[in-house]
Amino acid sequence: MTTQNFDVVVVGGGAAGLSAALMLGRSRRSVLVLDAGEPRNAPAAGVHGLLGHEGTPPGELLRAGRAEVEAYGVVVRAARASAATRDDTGFVVTLDDGTPGDGTTVHARRIVLTTGVVDQLPDVPGLAARWGHDVLHCPYCHGWEVRDKKIVVLATGPMAVHQALLFRQLSADVTVVLHEQPPLADEQAEELAAIGVRVVAEEVAEVVAENDVLTGVTLRSGQVVAAEAVVVASRPVARPDLLADLGLETAELPGNMGTHVPADAMGVTAAPGVWAAGNLVDPFAQVGASAAAGAKAGAMINADLAAAEAREAVQRRRALHAEPAR
Ligand SMILES: Cc1cc2nc3c(=O)[nH]c(=O)nc-3n(C[C@H](O)[C@H](O)[C@H](O)COP(=O)(O)OP(=O)(O)OC[C@H]3O[C@@H](n4cnc5c(N)ncnc54)[C@H](O)[C@@H]3O)c2cc1C
Repeated sequence: MTTQNFDVVVVGGGAAGLSAALMLGRSRRSVLVLDAGEPRNAPAAGVHGLLGHEGTPPGELLRAGRAEVEAYGVVVRAARASAATRDDTGFVVTLDDGTPGDGTTVHARRIVLTTGVVDQLPDVPGLAARWGHDVLHCPYCHGWEVRDKKIVVLATGPMAVHQALLFRQLSADVTVVLHEQPPLADEQAEELAAIGVRVVAEEVAEVVAENDVLTGVTLRSGQVVAAEAVVVASRPVARPDLLADLGLETAELPGNMGTHVPADAMGVTAAPGVWAAGNLVDPFAQVGASAAAGAKAGAMINADLAAAEAREAVQRRRALHAEPAR
């Protein structure tokens, strides 16, 4: 069996990965995008805060992106990259498309990791099932959609006060339930009281819905706080796929806010030949910022390959001229 060769394998076909592929495809690079098909915003009805695409369903945006990169010759495969090893000229990547015994390998000179994050949520019954529908984390992604509604902020850490301030901008009916968090500092409590945000120092027992519509949160005391939206800060955790194989590690974000893979502004990681972009690097980047980071990494890889090819051409030419005349 022959191993297919690509200039670049992009692992992850979300906004970041497809944007990297777009830049590379337009630069006439041979590119393979591997995508396991689990973008972070999949549960959301629409993508918001993205100029020119307001409210487009996440799946539709990615379908359009795949068609755009394919028009430049990029190959997109619905498959998971399951392993990677380094060789003299780049990397051998093993992929798994779900068919029994698959373990196809491809070769790439460079790799871009855009595998994103997984959102860890507090273990509260009823919460995870409504994530991305009416259990929300981001005012810019879905705040407008819950304007003027009854909003409960379920505190999971220091971000709760920040979220309360931002959602108070969208609704006059905001309640913070401290859940397992310690009491607020006096200054924070005073600020929230002054802007009309209620604070309840109790644990949440359950998130309740009727006919698939959120109705409130039940507290341990049995009291129900009515809610049409629950706001909660997830803990985004970098997907670990291929990191150890490539000699990379995740790092903690400050304040126990999650983990990420460190990379510079161009997407350069600590592992030579490996770039990273999107939520994997910055878990708080929205779709536009993730796409921008992917595009930048794609352009930088093209420049890196062009520079390497020029050096190789010089070596070949020198070797040719050094040959004795016959
Ligand atoms: C509920 C929710 C709603 C959101 N709404 C908005 C919004 O309205 N507007 C906005 O701008 N942002 C929104 N976001 C943020 C948005 O989801 C991210 O900015 C965006 O998904 C980041 O893109 P990405 O390409 O880095 O990662 P992702 O979109 O998560 O894509 C990563 C891809 O890599 C694939 N993958 C992972 N491991 C492998 C592997 N080993 N092999 C192959 N493929 C792999 C995954 O299956 C996935 O398809 C929302 C987030 C959440 C949680």
